[in-house]
Amino acid sequence: MPIRTSKRSLLARALDVTGCGRMLRVAAPWEGVLILNYHRIGNKNNSLLDRNLWSATDEDFDAQMGMIAKNFQVVGLDDLELVLHSRSGRFVMVTFDDGYLDNYTNAYPILKAHGVPATFFITTGFLDVPKIPWWDEIAWIVRTSPLEALDVNPWTTTPVPFDEPHREGAINRLLTVYKRLPGTETEAYVNFLAESLKTGRSPAQIAKKLWMTWDMIREMKQNGMSFGGHTVNHPVLANLPADQQDEEIRECRRRLIEELGEPIEAFSYPVGGPKSFNADTRTSLIRHGFKWGFTYLGGYCHYGQEDRLAMQRTAIETDVDLPIFRALTTLPQVFS
Ligand SMILES: [Zn+2]
Repeated sequence: MPIRTSKRSLLARALDVTGCGRMLRVAAPWEGVLILNYHRIGNKNNSLLDRNLWSATDEDFDAQMGMIAKNFQVVGLDDLELVLHSRSGRFVMVTFDDGYLDNYTNAYPILKAHGVPATFFITTGFLDVPKIPWWDEIAWIVRTSPLEALDVNPWTTTPVPFDEPHREGAINRLLTVYKRLPGTETEAYVNFLAESLKTGRSPAQIAKKLWMTWDMIREMKQNGMSFGGHTVNHPVLANLPADQQDEEIRECRRRLIEELGEPIEAFSYPVGGPKSFNADTRTSLIRHGFKWGFTYLGGYCHYGQEDRLAMQRTAIETDVDLPIFRALTTLPQVFS
């Protein structure tokens, strides 16, 4: 687990200011593959959607890519096998989950400018029939509700106030409830929120400019970017029975191959924590020809210890400013 944000930020700054960071970096160099995970790039202010998804502003992302391009060997998905075989050196890989439009409009030009080959994990159903994902819809419901709290109810058990300054916390709490529900109850939960908070379901037009198109993805692929699967509908796979997991994985790969051709060998687990996938998920990945499964477990890959269906990735989230980013990439033993 990464150390808590406020402490992490203080420690990162202290290492910079005191010069201890420089000493530690020389005294305890890390070896392995540090895989960074992003979601959205751009300006989250004023968005009615889930602002947790923004990993960095354009300016910060540009600085981050500049920093890794200058200081590390940055590798793409195609290099991963070779790098793990080499068993020496420090490598950084960049990945994105979900397939948001800003991956093309904001991130891609910056990646190209720095010569960084990134891997994008696509939720194929969101591109095929543009849809607002559950986390964005729940955030939208809370932000547009005329009410100030959710009363006592069977889903959250205690009331959830969401007037300011409780709004962001309320969104996170309602998202946590969703992630724990069996797949059969998730739709009823979103309907319950839409009704109780008097917003109705979010308007479909929001989804129209939310995702990349297949043409954009083909262009990115021609220019050195790689692509993998992230299911069709972005369920928490472990909350589904084995046959439904299999369908999400099989159909996602089929659509990617139909649009991009083979090989499609990498997959990232929606949500990605330890309870988001299970043995059935692994079985399906292998059955359908996936070679790599990427998680959201934090840390980095140590040579000889990698689990190819549970590759560790370190999240770059909104709170990661440049001192933390420098600490994460140069001292991942402590910060990732
Ligand atoms: Zn995702």
